[in-house]
Amino acid sequence: MSGSSHTDAVSKLQRLVRIPTVSYRDPGAIDRRAFDDFHAELAASFPLLHQHLERIEIHDHAVLYRWPGAAATHPVVLMAHIDVVPVEGEWQYPPFSAEIADGAIWGRGTLDDKGSLVAICEAVERMLADGVTPAQDVWLSFGADEEVSGDSAPLAVAALRERGVSPWFVLDEGGAIAHQAFPGVSAPIGVVGVSEKGVTSLELHAEGRGGHASTPARNGPTARIARAITRLDAAPMAPHLPEPTVELFRRIGAGVPAPLRPLISQATRMGPLFARALIAAGPEAAALVRTTFAVTTLSGSPALNVIAARAKAGVNIRVMVGDTVDEAIAHIRKVIADDEIRIDVLERNEPSPISPRDDAFALIESTISRLFPDAVPAPYVMMAATDSRFFTEICDRVYRFAPFRMTKEQRESIHSYDEHLGVDAFLDGIDWYRRLLEGLPA
Ligand SMILES: [Zn+2]
Repeated sequence: MSGSSHTDAVSKLQRLVRIPTVSYRDPGAIDRRAFDDFHAELAASFPLLHQHLERIEIHDHAVLYRWPGAAATHPVVLMAHIDVVPVEGEWQYPPFSAEIADGAIWGRGTLDDKGSLVAICEAVERMLADGVTPAQDVWLSFGADEEVSGDSAPLAVAALRERGVSPWFVLDEGGAIAHQAFPGVSAPIGVVGVSEKGVTSLELHAEGRGGHASTPARNGPTARIARAITRLDAAPMAPHLPEPTVELFRRIGAGVPAPLRPLISQATRMGPLFARALIAAGPEAAALVRTTFAVTTLSGSPALNVIAARAKAGVNIRVMVGDTVDEAIAHIRKVIADDEIRIDVLERNEPSPISPRDDAFALIESTISRLFPDAVPAPYVMMAATDSRFFTEICDRVYRFAPFRMTKEQRESIHSYDEHLGVDAFLDGIDWYRRLLEGLPA
């Protein structure tokens, strides 16, 4: 590929990052013009794609594209989302400037998820320019409300179902070529999400008489909520070691720190022991093996000298593969041991089924090895939620992977500040998507 088309691809990403397609839960807060502008810019940047692919509007700026292949027996869906989260923190470069510095493009959405969206479109555009027809139908599904769990993805699934499309595999954001993934492991890990924990939110409510703060009674609403929180904090759910996690550690086994190494070699046999070792290794490792409960919001009385008549705590739960939402709620009820606390479930999502590691996974894996020969490809269970969870209704093989090298610092910048994607990493990602599409079986 020539230098000038590299520069072109980078400037396309820059132009799209500069459009602030920020999602908010309050529909009135959304700048709909920005989303219109994004689609106009997308059409201008990828003329061949827009000429050759069928474009289907799904819902509020969400779109599906269909690229007819030589066959449609193994259609695939590549996903990405247009929207970004609001800006927070102090940025080195203005978040919608898409400035290039230190070999990277800086801006909100470069990693999550416009980098993937543009790399997918650029791969398709280049293949069209070269007169390539994919071996199978290729669908692109670009949602516009992923960050607020909107309707784009479920409606895209409904549209595909209506057309009788049952994808061979679906590929969405999630994993990456993760550098510094584990302390002591020098090789980057090409982590491909094969499942994701279920995000569930609920509130604990306690009520009482309230009154003047000069005459407090014991065990008022705030005390009961506090007691519930400390009890929950002290009693986590039992760990599980799902098969992909065992496989992840098996593959990186040689590189992990010495204390874990002997355990890893026998991880399948020594599951419970290994799970305990991960829990002892810290909160990140612990989250790999069990359902987590984070008490995130707390409220009581609105005034300092008034006893709360109501107190509540919000709990964000990530339900582990192997547990269910009902089991997590039952666990909370049991450990807080207070029948007068009411539990309101605000959002419930079960963990996603585990996608198999068969021919589709092998294609993704071999494409990773081809483009990133230093990386160890491995499956894993994602802790965050993606739109792809809805696609498990129409497809068994749902994978979560963005073909970009990311440092630990870059992964931490997602939804935070100083989000940036390396220029070379972006260009490699374009090649990765192209190679993947060229590898589709006849
Ligand atoms: Zn995202």
